[in-house]
Amino acid sequence: MRIVIIGAGPCGLGAAHRLLEKGHSDFAVYERRPYVGGLAASFRDERGFTWDFAVHVAHSHYHYIDRLMDDLLPGGFLHHERRSWVREYQTFIPYPFQYNIRHLPPAARDECLAGLRELAQRPPSDAQRPTPNNFEEWILAGFGRGIAKHFMAPYNRKIWSTELRDMGYQWIGDRVPTLDLARVERNIAEGRDDVSWGPNHTFQFPREGGTGAIWRALAARLPAGRLHLSCGLVRLDAGRRIAVFEDGREERYDALISTMPLIRLAELAGDTGLVRRARGLRYTHVEVTGVAPAFPIPDALRDKTWIYCPEPACDFYRVTPFSIFSPAHVPDPDRHCSLLCEISTPGDAPIPRGDSGAATLRGLRDIGLMDCDPARTHLFTMVEEFGYPVPTVDRDAILADVLPALESQGLYSRGRFGGWKYEVANMDHSVMQGVEVADRLLDGAEEVTLPKPAVVNAGKR
Ligand SMILES: Cc1cc2nc3c(=O)[nH]c(=O)nc-3n(C[C@H](O)[C@H](O)[C@H](O)COP(=O)(O)OP(=O)(O)OC[C@H]3O[C@@H](n4cnc5c(N)ncnc54)[C@H](O)[C@@H]3O)c2cc1C
Repeated sequence: MRIVIIGAGPCGLGAAHRLLEKGHSDFAVYERRPYVGGLAASFRDERGFTWDFAVHVAHSHYHYIDRLMDDLLPGGFLHHERRSWVREYQTFIPYPFQYNIRHLPPAARDECLAGLRELAQRPPSDAQRPTPNNFEEWILAGFGRGIAKHFMAPYNRKIWSTELRDMGYQWIGDRVPTLDLARVERNIAEGRDDVSWGPNHTFQFPREGGTGAIWRALAARLPAGRLHLSCGLVRLDAGRRIAVFEDGREERYDALISTMPLIRLAELAGDTGLVRRARGLRYTHVEVTGVAPAFPIPDALRDKTWIYCPEPACDFYRVTPFSIFSPAHVPDPDRHCSLLCEISTPGDAPIPRGDSGAATLRGLRDIGLMDCDPARTHLFTMVEEFGYPVPTVDRDAILADVLPALESQGLYSRGRFGGWKYEVANMDHSVMQGVEVADRLLDGAEEVTLPKPAVVNAGKR
């Protein structure tokens, strides 16, 4: 079986790795960019700074991934506690937000509390309550009006660039979070921080080279001649199963594993009905500005792995003090630090031009996070047309039409934008989507990650 893999991100590399593990050598990987890693690539710029496309924390729902990571970078990881914060009202609020509303100004805190008390009046069992129809209703049902207003709604609108009533909530898990009003009230009364971090909330991060070091190590295992960089798929003859690449090369395939965005694959496959259907899928563009001021990391940021920024005072929805993940991310941690600031725009808006640096510096100053002198701050901007696959209410119905129709033509679309399911779109999921589809093609094994996200997210497999 001749297998052609499109894309050398985590999913495509995962598929190739699995084929090799199974002793199947009749495959090739084609990547349109000159580097591997896809959205999880890292870049070292001419000034010696290393940048991820927003920080990539390697969660793992699979023992297979744990073993693979250890094998790829033995001893090559640093370990961190996950410490998330919210920044608003010129203050830091530890995450989870709902348990730490004591940090809000009194009027906002009281609105949050009033919303939670309203919820406490509702019928106690899930069965007696109305089922939310969309993400907006899910937020109100789980957190109440105050927390929706002061954090959940503005933050989620910012990251998803989508009306929350157009989004589903199955990607979070079907349960509305349990409301623990007594815990919230106790934290306020006792002035206590109730944080999510601690010894069980640790993650590992490559010591050097950013997240991309993982994918470069995986790609280095491919035998010579199997990986073709700067060689994008530009045409498909789906009937004759021939893929045509930008250098004019043609490849016959029995099965094509595609990790390019599903909409683009449907366009190349050429069925107009299917293209129209696939174009109903929504996504965001993401622009990430790397900010490197000429001073070491401020004390206030040393204990924060990332900071959610819901307010309109800044365009970015999240800031990550990237240099605390590894001192190797900056040339000299005593003289520099680095931050990653992420901005989302809707997929139907023009692709960002990568010119948000000045606005990002203003935003950092206006929310009181950091005052950088533009003349002494190094900026590095990255833009991706496809950043987040939005879990809209109609997403699953669209996928149920499009994915099987493509598979009937030997086209297996997998990965973050190939499978388009945000809940299984992290790196571990994406690798495993590649691994599982390879197993299915070779042995007929059943795939789990893409068809059954709730199963894989329930615990470690
Ligand atoms: C802002 C942001 C933050 C994230 N944070 C995390 C995190 O903390 N933890 C985590 O686990 N994951 C995170 N992710 C998700 C992670 O980036 C993805 O899980 C992973 O990159 C998906 O791998 P993939 O191979 O499916 O897709 P991609 O990484 O998108 O790779 C697809 C590849 O296909 C190539 N391609 C596209 N079209 C063609 C073509 N026509 N021909 C040939 N090649 C083509 C692309 O160039 C790309 O290299 C984050 C993503 C974003 C955007």
